[in-house]
Amino acid sequence: MDKKELFDAFDGFSQNLLVTLAEIDSMKKQFQDLLEENASLRLENDKLRQRLNDVESPHKSGPSAGKENLENIYEDGFHICTTFYGQRRENNEGCVFCMELLDRE
Ligand SMILES: [Zn+2]
Repeated sequence: MDKKELFDAFDGFSQNLLVTLAEIDSMKKQFQDLLEENASLRLENDKLRQRLNDVESPHKSGPSAGKENLENIYEDGFHICTTFYGQRRENNEGCVFCMELLDRE
């Protein structure tokens, strides 16, 4: 292998690494989107279950399981507030809107 071939090989490696990095970035983004979608669906599911409960037994309103579910979703690192609904809380940052919701009831 002469020097030119070596440099070409290095260029090839660099190129491949850049492509791989871009792919990883894109996968990470997709993963994050999926997580957020999952959180939104959990929230929706929660609301529907709550609604169903109300319809099935309108007079029974004990401590709501709904709030516990909201807490779980929040603890998992997602917004439950209407402002950032279902989005990931970057670095587990606190959110006043979410806290307000959790403090209610
Ligand atoms: Zn929030």
